Amino acid sequence: MTPSLKKICCFLFFLFSLFCFAIAQEDGQKIRVIMIGAHPDDCDDDGGGTAALFAQMGYAVKFVAVTNGDAGHQLTGGPDLAKRRFAEAQEAGKRLGVVYDVLNNHDGQLMPNLEVRLQVIKKIREWNADIVIAPRPNDYHPDHRYTGVLVQDAAYMVAVPNIAPETPALKKNPIFLYFQDRFLRPNPFRPDIAIDITGVFDKKISALDAHESQMYEWLPWIGHYADKVPEGKRERIKWLAETRKLPIKPEVMTALEKWYGKDKATTIKIAEAFEICEYGTQPDEELIKRFFPMLGK
Ligand SMILES: [Zn+2]
Repeated sequence: MTPSLKKICCFLFFLFSLFCFAIAQEDGQKIRVIMIGAHPDDCDDDGGGTAALFAQMGYAVKFVAVTNGDAGHQLTGGPDLAKRRFAEAQEAGKRLGVVYDVLNNHDGQLMPNLEVRLQVIKKIREWNADIVIAPRPNDYHPDHRYTGVLVQDAAYMVAVPNIAPETPALKKNPIFLYFQDRFLRPNPFRPDIAIDITGVFDKKISALDAHESQMYEWLPWIGHYADKVPEGKRERIKWLAETRKLPIKPEVMTALEKWYGKDKATTIKIAEAFEICEYGTQPDEELIKRFFPMLGK
């Protein structure tokens, strides 16, 4: 190599290093969100609109299904179903612009034990999460309930270095939020944060549409409305959007009015809401607005 060619190579390498450093810095400043649900489709269903907005804003967003979905179907089950559910989750993630992880725990058999708690702690740490969103531990389905418990159990331990020391502990505890639910006991869901997802509702529906085995097979069968599912692809998406477009509850509307103002709130057609968990970092209004800059816009 001639001295001048060497110089050019060194200079190019220097430029490349600067570029990599800039990317790494930018990535370090990205707000990082992890949504944790029990089954492949839960995060999409409860937070898919908010995830789409986060992804559009350049946030790093990950969904985690704590079980592999290998039980919830009337005709199939086991590894074949788990494989199908994984492929559907990957497609849904692609449509929303989020990473979709599926843990290999059996569907319908989830227990809030130490083994799974450590899995959840590792996922939150590896993602270096600023925001963690999961179900409340009140729900009709034990897997949903225990996912809520598992994330609550992780909410302090993610910052404790001697727990799961092979994955470095987080330097700051994230904020933990709950997905909205309809359960009233022991206490009803409290919408601390409400997000206008009207503009990204089609994206949310597109993600749910990827979960074919859930949306068009299992849920209609167990819910006794299988005869209502249309045949054609376009008709199915339209039907899915109609059935998922739920009216905004009065308490969620109050939260929308608080964050967006009364005038704007009246124009909002579809919303997702979240409750602040008492564990983890307690966000003040300023931090909420920093993490959710779409509020008020
Ligand atoms: Zn579920």
